[in-house]
Formats: sequence, C-alpha cells, structure tokens
Amino acid sequence: MFRSAILASPSSLDQRIAPARIEPETFRALGHELVERLADFMAALPDRSVKPRQSAQDIQSWLAEAAFPETASPAQQVLGQACDLLCSHAVSTSHPRFWAYVMGAASPMGMFADFLAAAVSAPATSYATSGLTVAMEAQTIQWMARLIGYPSGGGGLFVSGGSVANLVALRLALHAVLGADVRAVGLADPEASQLCLYATEDAHSSIDAAAEVSGLGTQRIRRIRLDAAGRMDVTDLQQKIRADKTTGKTPLMVVATAGTTSLGAVDPLRDIARICRDEQVWFHVDGAYGGFAALSPDAPDDIHGLQEADSVTIDPHKWLYMPADIGCVLTRDPKLLLDTFRQGAPYYAENDEQALLGGPERLQFRDLGLQTTRAFRALKVRLGLQLVGRSGYRQMITDDIRLARKLHEIAGSHPELEAFTHHLSITTFRYRPANSVSGTAEGEARLDRLNHAILDELHRCGIAYPSHTTVRGKFALRVCIVNFNTSLADLEDLVRHVTDIGRAVSRDLA
Ligand SMILES: *Cc1c(COP(=O)(O)O)cnc(C)c1O
Repeated sequence: MFRSAILASPSSLDQRIAPARIEPETFRALGHELVERLADFMAALPDRSVKPRQSAQDIQSWLAEAAFPETASPAQQVLGQACDLLCSHAVSTSHPRFWAYVMGAASPMGMFADFLAAAVSAPATSYATSGLTVAMEAQTIQWMARLIGYPSGGGGLFVSGGSVANLVALRLALHAVLGADVRAVGLADPEASQLCLYATEDAHSSIDAAAEVSGLGTQRIRRIRLDAAGRMDVTDLQQKIRADKTTGKTPLMVVATAGTTSLGAVDPLRDIARICRDEQVWFHVDGAYGGFAALSPDAPDDIHGLQEADSVTIDPHKWLYMPADIGCVLTRDPKLLLDTFRQGAPYYAENDEQALLGGPERLQFRDLGLQTTRAFRALKVRLGLQLVGRSGYRQMITDDIRLARKLHEIAGSHPELEAFTHHLSITTFRYRPANSVSGTAEGEARLDRLNHAILDELHRCGIAYPSHTTVRGKFALRVCIVNFNTSLADLEDLVRHVTDIGRAVSRDLA
C-alpha cells in the first residue's frame, strides 16, 4: 500500500501505543469519579468562601509543584490533582453570592453539553464536513433570534463572547457601508478616512477594541452624552450625526447598549432606531449583558427596540447562564456575514444539498466569521434552552431583576446605606453611617475610602463577591445578579455584613 510504503517502520505501527488514549473502561471510571466530585463541589458551594483566600506566593508555590511534564503521568493523578486544586481554590461564578462584573452562574446542563460536544468532537465548520452539527447550530441561532424577538429571517454566528461579536458587527457595518471593495482595499479608500462611530462613554471597552482591530481607530468614536439616567442622549446623537454630515464625514454606525456593563442602563433603543433609519446609519445594539432581558416583563420597554437593529450582540454566558465562553451576533441580512467573511479556499469541501437547511449563509460557519476550526458551542445553549424553555428563562431573568430591585429597596430604606441605582439586575449602593458628611470633597473622599475598605473586606472574608463602580463620581458597591443560585437571604446576608464591616471600619478610621 502507498501509506505503508512511506512509513519509516511500519511493523512498529501495527500495534500503535498512543499515550493520549484512555481506554473506555478507564474513561468510564474516571468520568464517574469526576462527576461524583463535582456533584459534591456544587452541593458545598453555598457554604464555601466565594473568593478562596490565597496569596500570590501560594499560587506560585502550587504552580511550582507542577514540574514541566517531560514524560507521561497516570490519568487519575493528572485529573485528580487538577480537581483538588480547582475545587479548593478557584472562584466560581456559580456561587450564590458571586455578583461581580457580568458573569453568569454556570448551568449544569451547559456543563454536560460542553462535555458531550467535546467527547463526540464533531466539527462545526460546514455542512460538507459535518451536516448534523452545523444544522443544529443554525437552528439554535434561529432560536436565539426568536428568544429575544429579533427577526427570524436573519443570519448569525456563535463566537467566543460579546467582545468578538461586537468586532464582527463592526466588520459587517464596514462591509455594508463601504461595499465589497473594503475586503481588498481596506480602509485606504478616501471615504473610509471620514467614517465615524457613535457610542456613549458607558459603551463597553470592546467597542474601542473593535475600532482599533478593524483599523478604524478610536479617534473615530464620537462620544454621545449620557442623560441623567445614564442612557444615550438622543438629542446629542442627532446633533453629532448632522454636524458630521455637514462637514463631509460619513456616519458609519451607532452602538447602543442594552444594559450597560457598569449600571445596566438601557439606551433609548426605539428613538435611536428611528434616527439611524432617517440618517441611514448602521444600528448596532450591544446587548451582551441585557439583550436577554427582552424576555422579561420587568425590563424597560425600550429593550424591544433591539428588534430594529441591523446587528445585535448577545452573550449566552451572561444571562443564559452558560459556562464560558459563548457569545452571539445576529444580523438582519442572512447573506451579509457570508459576503463579509467568506474566503472559499480551494481545499475546503462545498455541498449543494445544504440548501434545504438554509444554505451556506446559515451553515458554512467557517465562512461566516473569523474562526475556521470551531467548538460546537451551540450545543450548550441549545440544551440549556430545551431544559427550561423560554418560560424558564423569562422566570429566572425576572427573578434576578426583582432581587436586584429588592436590594435597592432594602438599601434605600436602611439608615446606614445609600441606594444609588437599579437597572435590570444591577444595583449600586454604599455604606454611609448616620454621622457621616457627604457632599463635601473631604467627606466624599472618606466615604470612598470606607466603601473601598468594605469591598476589600467582603472579598477577603469570602462572604460575598460584588464588584464596584463609580456613580456620579462616588465609589459604589455594585451587585450584578446573573445568577439563578442567588436568593433573597443571600442579599440580606450581604446587607448585614456590609453594615457590620462598615461599623467596624468606621471605628478604625475614626
Ligand atoms: C460583557 C460585555 C461585553 C463583552 O463581552 P465578553 O463576552 O466579555 O467578551 C460587551 N458589551 C457589554 C455591554 C458587556 O456587558
């Protein structure tokens, strides 16, 4: 045979020994053991420190114990050690009192799905390579659109997260505005040097990153004023677009945010949609955090303006509670992703039969974005949605919003707390003892220090893991609940500890 003719020593390959292989019986035993340990881990999580205490020296010494693996080690030892280390010392977003940034608690069904997808290891690149998996993924994309009320005739793509989804959206806008030539010419065209992008200062930092990576440059971002509620000021938007047009600039794209990362504010999407339509500007909604709030009757009505967007970013690893990482970009024109990204390299198979399932514009994922080899990430979203249904997500998201509102009410009526904001499932507040002075620079600086110390102490004791932000220049404790494990008792615990720590720290600072 041709194959054996080119092998150096075919006889030694007859019974190949592959150290990576784990025999089915061992796989079964190891898997059972791992699941046992993880079930224990999840059961014990609520009683565990949210942020297990460890110093940089500790971490350094744990890592130093792991010498460079020159040779093989037993599977049980390798898996067991990692399990010991992570179950004892890792921060878990699934902890009922983890509320930092915007990080969803991980759905157990999502964990199973990731394992299943990795084990079957089916490619998610094209119909010709693996028809079933890409068709399942394409259907799941349609479900995402339907879930948030976005037109179902559009296209979309699962990516690693909201940051990449925003980059893809910017690329779509460039293609739509400059035409197909942008693929060859890049931004060298004189028209390209006049493009402007519009976003508020509370837009996510990945918008800046997208402007950089695309070659547009952050100088092209026009910062639109925020109104008193932290939303995009549409009058300012309208004026800036008009002013740019009169000076020969080309408005490229408005990035509105459905749930800002800091405070959860939802920009007035319907008004922005109207301006974009009138001015013929690409309308992108960054709903990485708040897009799925469209499911909830408790979200501001404006959220439904995302239905009118040319492109939308949503992040299943935030409010669909999926294990990271998975983000999603949706767009109205199903062919645009293909036109923007398709390379059609000669070494890839094509297949006409796929028309029945939506054609290459829905199925040829390697030609719809930046990734060629892709994980079958869609499976976790699919199974997660099948497990709870739209109604289950509506309930969980609404509960998260109501818990955040409740925290805001508790803080608002507590004599030692000051409630700042509540939008979607984010509440900001601070500790402010009755005798404190606020309003003066000195008094505010003292309150900032005090609340900073409270946050550090919460993290240090591992009681709760909120993060912080600034509200009108004031340091605020920030609780973002994208966590179906959180209950009201957890928030009451938080309030009790904030006030206990606050009193102790105030005494120390006095
Ligand atoms: C989290 C977030 C992003 C970034 O998403 P990743 O999944 O972390 O890449 C973008 N925009 C908003 C509004 C976000 O909250």
